[in-house]
Amino acid sequence: MRAVVMKFGGSSVVDAAAVDRVIGIVDGERTRGRTPVVVVSALGGVTDTLLALANAARGGNAGEVREGVAAVLARHLEQAGELGAAADPALAGALDGLIRELQSVLDTIQAQGASDPPALDAVAATGELLSSRLMAAALAARGLPATWVDAREAVRTDDRYTCAAPLVDETNAAVQAAIGPVVAAGQIAVLGGFIGRAPDGTTTTLGRGGSDYSASLVGAALAASEIQICTDVDGMLTADPRIVYDAEVVPHLSFAEASELAYFGAKVLHPSTIFPAVSRNIPVRILNSRKPDAQGTLITADPPTGNRPFAALACKRGITVIDITSTRMLMAHGFLLRVFEAFEANETAVDVVTTSEVSVSVTIDDNRRGPEIVAALLEIAEVTVEEQMAILTVVGDRLATNSTLAARIIGAMTGFPLRMISQAASRKNLTIVLPEASLAPAMMHLHRELFPITETTR
Ligand code: ADP
Ligand code: ASP
Ligand code: MG
Repeated sequence: MRAVVMKFGGSSVVDAAAVDRVIGIVDGERTRGRTPVVVVSALGGVTDTLLALANAARGGNAGEVREGVAAVLARHLEQAGELGAAADPALAGALDGLIRELQSVLDTIQAQGASDPPALDAVAATGELLSSRLMAAALAARGLPATWVDAREAVRTDDRYTCAAPLVDETNAAVQAAIGPVVAAGQIAVLGGFIGRAPDGTTTTLGRGGSDYSASLVGAALAASEIQICTDVDGMLTADPRIVYDAEVVPHLSFAEASELAYFGAKVLHPSTIFPAVSRNIPVRILNSRKPDAQGTLITADPPTGNRPFAALACKRGITVIDITSTRMLMAHGFLLRVFEAFEANETAVDVVTTSEVSVSVTIDDNRRGPEIVAALLEIAEVTVEEQMAILTVVGDRLATNSTLAARIIGAMTGFPLRMISQAASRKNLTIVLPEASLAPAMMHLHRELFPITETTR
């Protein structure tokens, strides 16, 4: 029987009622003849709480840490009780063991007055280890054949703690070994998302929001029939719903469109989610765990997109623009190489690039190494830095073939202070950089212009 990987985000397991809904969805999938593999995030808010506890430990607040740890355990035990799983002796033991390990890592952080990245990952990973144990016990309490799997036995990564990259061949083999037999036996494997194991055996995480990526890695390794991302919205929407309240569901997306949207800030998908699915041509479906019968968004290689000119808008705030002007007033041979070396040496990804004869403008999302990057650039160029900028991106496969669409977008932006405009080689997105303060009005306006209200919402 082929597996279907079902990932449930933090809000989908936030309390007992939410977990109850998840159990219904998982059971429904079984009755349709597929074997679910459940990938679960930490209970809503727990990852933030755990990282705040690491912070408190670093600051020496032992009392706050102890109370916080006790509250995390109490929340899971209470939820287990509401789900009828409290009597499961294996669950109580597992939760207790995880909480002891958590307290011990926090004690070490406090003793050292520092939290290095491996310690932060050990702390953050506790959320998914706890929630996956709870979910497996809750499914079992309803009579469903659930088997807990330690996600670290399945997802193998490098040792870049807090944003580890999966080792694909090792992960494929480990997933097949750890989860394959569970699926073959018709059991529901339950594992935490977000977490993995480095070559030396220590715990890693894939970066915030990484459970989507876990689901897709597991789905690809198992050659699953589908990867489902179950969340708190109805699918991929035509714009960020936190800015555009009447954004609508996009029923179909191509892998390329979904990747671009995730990369340019559509938080509903971790930016790396699509890649493993593409490698095995596995459909990805985004669904609302509160409305499991709604159609959601189906992401495939070659979707039916009708006549829609654009797929959706995405945005990112907190962007830094760096203007780099060659001091020799010419883009000498090797200049761009040296520019990009400054970013590479500081492990900082560049998102958007535009060039002229004498200058290059780039945007970065992560400004933690900003001073080092600027120092390196100043050796070859004049540099100006502008913070509090934003990226607004229009995504659609048709942008590549219909040149009037780009003109429509830029025409619609008249009056907004556009700082950079870029269309990458794939020409599946058109990206605008503008001040953060203009982002919300610009996105609302662009959405009105490019996505006229449909009959169903009129
Ligand atoms: P989960 O905890 O299930 O992983 P996330 O909070 O990571 O959920 O992602 C879902 C959120 O993504 C939504 O609540 C929404 O606010 C945000 N989001 C941003 N852009 C989009 C978009 N284009 N479509 C849908 N959701 C989006
Ligand atoms: N729990 C992790 C986070 O909050 C991973 C995830 O939810 O995808 O970032
Ligand atoms: Mg998420």
